[in-house]
Amino acid sequence: MTEKTPLIEVKDLSLIYDIGTPAETLALKKINLKIYPEEYIIFFGPSGCGKSTLLYCISGLLTPTDGGIFTGGKDITKFSSRDMADFHRRGMGIVFQAYNLIQTLSVLDNIALPQLWRGGSAPVRERAAKQQLERFSLSYVADRLPQELSGGQQQRVSIARALVNNPPLMLADEPVGNLDSVASKGVLEIFSELNAIDKKTVVMVTHNSSHFAYADRIIYMKDGQIIKEEVNNHKERPLSAAPLEKGAQELERMQEFADALSDDFLHVSELYLKEKIMSLIVGIIKGDMSLEEFQRILIKPIRDGGIDIGKERAAELMKRLETVMFESRLLKGKNEGELRQVPLSMEIGELRRYMLSEHRKPFAFLQIKRLEEAIGNLVRGIIDEDGFSKVLMLPEALGGVGLTREISSIFLFKMKLVLKLR
Ligand code: ADP
Repeated sequence: MTEKTPLIEVKDLSLIYDIGTPAETLALKKINLKIYPEEYIIFFGPSGCGKSTLLYCISGLLTPTDGGIFTGGKDITKFSSRDMADFHRRGMGIVFQAYNLIQTLSVLDNIALPQLWRGGSAPVRERAAKQQLERFSLSYVADRLPQELSGGQQQRVSIARALVNNPPLMLADEPVGNLDSVASKGVLEIFSELNAIDKKTVVMVTHNSSHFAYADRIIYMKDGQIIKEEVNNHKERPLSAAPLEKGAQELERMQEFADALSDDFLHVSELYLKEKIMSLIVGIIKGDMSLEEFQRILIKPIRDGGIDIGKERAAELMKRLETVMFESRLLKGKNEGELRQVPLSMEIGELRRYMLSEHRKPFAFLQIKRLEEAIGNLVRGIIDEDGFSKVLMLPEALGGVGLTREISSIFLFKMKLVLKLR
């Protein structure tokens, strides 16, 4: 059997920092490694073991003291500056822990930047950058500056930037090191998709073993050497086999949700704030932003990039958002088939309490029973929204809940919000 050709082959690679000084450090000791096309590799080991140094050597950003790194039959350590520039433009994309975005450029311009050196007209560059924005659900922040984004968003921008020239190799140095767990998961899913669906070779530095699930091979490093290699035969696939479509659909649902909630919450005189509030709400649902951050922006003066709706109204909006998110979480992950089999009495009881939470008039026992039945039928897909409204408005004597049109429509609205997020 002929062996596959590696995309990258590292041969007897050594690197000494501060050579000949008292601070001299032997960071890599005769490293040998082959990385094959479409592999997902993790460099793992304690801080200071040489993971980043090895990654930067592979990227060509650091020149080793000894040894070679081969790709396409050529040693990158011997590249002319023109070949190296070309390798950086087309051969690989790199993502850093601290994002390294240009703070004075908008998100769109940051992503478009790597294409500048490739030539192509401005509209072509912008189109390619916009495609990346859409792919990573960032279109609504295209004109913002990096510092206005959450960490998770900034890292998605930096992945989009690394990807815009469509290189075969993606390198990442602790890409989730600065992120909370929700945002981390989102970023790790992206790398998993890039590998499984876009067929990119991924090399990632991490000291977190919970990231192993996504990789094909884990390279354990210690004191500048590879001490072990582990093959992961149970590599985790990305959540969806068609991430673009699914991502776009999910985003659309989130935006519809944000649209409905902000419309309902804002007074007519405040409608100019709608777009801002919507993007914040979508940020929260996606896990790119914490509720505390959300609250801070709601209260902050407009001139400082805030929304300035006052503490009380901010608290009201947060409560509404949190409640809907909690209710929808109860139903999350259950499909209609499953929902038909499980009784769901706890979930439905909880939803009914949520519907009645701001409703002052007491409900009779029979009304509660019928309301719960209608909620159950709606979440199970047995009746649609129209049917739900009808049951709510139908007089009690005819088997309905006997509510006015106005109250029914409030109840339907509340259910719609929950179902949109499910
Ligand atoms: P890791 O990524 O595993 O934390 P690094 O590759 O950053 O490890 O570092 C390997 C060794 O090289 C460490 O002893 C570190 O202190 C040293 N080192 C890293 N970068 C430099 C540098 N720019 N100058 C001098 N020493 C460095």
